[in-house]
Amino acid sequence: MSKPTPDVYEQGKGMDAHNQVMREIRSRKEASYDPHEPTRVWLDEDNTPGGVKTSLTIILNTGGCRWARAGGCTMCGYVAESVDGGSVSHEALMDQIDVCLAHEAENADEPADLIKIYTSGSFLDEREVGAETRKAIGETFADRERIVLESLPDFVDREKIADFAGHGIDTDIAIGLETATDRVRHDCVNKYFDFADFEDACAEAAAADAEAGDVADAGIKAYLLMKPPFLTESEAVADMISSIERCADVSGCHTVSMNPCNVQRYTMVDELYFNDGYRPPWLWSVAHVLEETADVDAIVVSDPVGHGSDRGPHNCTECDDLVQKAIKDFDLRQDPSVFEQVSCECELTWDTVMERERSFNQPLTR
Ligand code: SF4
Ligand SMILES: [Zn+2]
Repeated sequence: MSKPTPDVYEQGKGMDAHNQVMREIRSRKEASYDPHEPTRVWLDEDNTPGGVKTSLTIILNTGGCRWARAGGCTMCGYVAESVDGGSVSHEALMDQIDVCLAHEAENADEPADLIKIYTSGSFLDEREVGAETRKAIGETFADRERIVLESLPDFVDREKIADFAGHGIDTDIAIGLETATDRVRHDCVNKYFDFADFEDACAEAAAADAEAGDVADAGIKAYLLMKPPFLTESEAVADMISSIERCADVSGCHTVSMNPCNVQRYTMVDELYFNDGYRPPWLWSVAHVLEETADVDAIVVSDPVGHGSDRGPHNCTECDDLVQKAIKDFDLRQDPSVFEQVSCECELTWDTVMERERSFNQPLTR
């Protein structure tokens, strides 16, 4: 039997239909980027197991995700921001880190407690970020409290985590699990790994945590995708609730970040959206999932990107900002009563969509 991996496209096996469509869509992009500049960098604050912290978020430009080059996930447009065709050298990656440190020095009073590094792929994949660079970045941030590193589960192992935890930095690995349901991850998201791989990565993080002893903590932050294409609103909500519950039950996974799907350029979701086949989730759905899962044994947060716009998670436009604000309040306080204070006439429409939308008639509203 064929096993889906990032290499399948070379062998003509596996999830070929989705990958073929995604390769064609992605090939329409024309931009190229400077390997000495990060894709993006910004300052913010975040809820962590150690409380609310100032954060510096870095999107490193590493040449992009190998899975995206194979075709990749149906909602992900990140490859459109990657360096064309290849890997980025150690020197160029360290230049990118320097640009980020300069940005922080200019815009913040003091160094952020929390560093988050995303790569539009896997920071722990040695073909994106080699061991030399990984160790140098560990040293650069040795004086910070906490670091979040993005990776697919295959590349997570305790030694790589030790390059950071060994300096006394609490280390979280952010994994784009998307959903705990393998069928939905494979067929709606077109992501190749299984929930069992996520559980293995959590076990590696738990082992790294034990090895680091009192010096540092290590754990997993799961990123879930609220409403991948091909699911109705109610199916998406049910899938998210069970996914959050299953992630919170895995030892080593302490935080779940639920990301409502938004419509990015050069993706299958964009094609569906353009042809009236996809609507991003309602913010009421996001609020409902957060309320329903408030008592799980993990921090659950959500940051609806592009909220209130047609291509992002939205309600009726009247109440979007209000519900978004309640979601952000919930992120910081984990108190579901914040949602009791928001209401709008469009809740009736949402109720109807939840009850009546079926795969063959979706989306029932825009
Ligand atoms: S979501 Fe992650 S794994 Fe999927 S194509 Fe994008 S970067 Fe690659
Ligand atoms: Zn409304």
